[in-house]
Amino acid sequence: MARYTGPVCRLCRREGGKLYLKGERCYSTKCAFEHRPETPGHKSRFRKKPTEYGIQLREKQKTRRIYGVLERQFRTYYRRAARSRGVTGETLLQLLERRLDNVIYRLGWGSSRSEARQLVRHGHFTVNGRCVNIPSFQVRPGDEIAVHPSSRDLARMKELAGLAGQRGVPEWLEADHEEMKARVSRLPSREDIDVPVQEHLIIELYSR
Ligand code: SF4
Repeated sequence: MARYTGPVCRLCRREGGKLYLKGERCYSTKCAFEHRPETPGHKSRFRKKPTEYGIQLREKQKTRRIYGVLERQFRTYYRRAARSRGVTGETLLQLLERRLDNVIYRLGWGSSRSEARQLVRHGHFTVNGRCVNIPSFQVRPGDEIAVHPSSRDLARMKELAGLAGQRGVPEWLEADHEEMKARVSRLPSREDIDVPVQEHLIIELYSR
């Protein structure tokens, strides 16, 4: 299961905005984007006005990087969204939101999507009572998500569950942080997904 392992803050600088990929650090004064917001690369100052294709490409890359998905898997999500009924862009975002690692992040049980992904990989969560260690697992309405009983006493899990109570949870999820369990009440709508992306640009890119 491949994932991006290069410098993370560089991705924010490349996309020209904070993508919040490093958890607590992103909200502190240590955030690299606060100190060096310019695009990486010594020739960045001389870059020309972006083309229509360039704008679409950047939007796709930004979305992919926010959710920590590599190109091939992202394209698979697009194909699934294009085949399904409904608005393709919205369905694409919905598929990304329904990934288990994203759901754990949304619940506040991971300070970033990458931490949530690692915790899922290490088998710290169950879905409907069964241990699931696949970050791309798609949750469905009615699914019960919980911290694995053997992981509840881990210091980091307790710390995250404590902090999670201070963070809001999207309306499509119901969380009980004390019991360390949650439920998917419905599918996320576009209004529930607060990522700053223009999904129609991604669809235009892939429709070329
Ligand atoms: Fe981006 Fe977070 Fe790094 Fe800041 S600290 S540049 S928001 S990943």
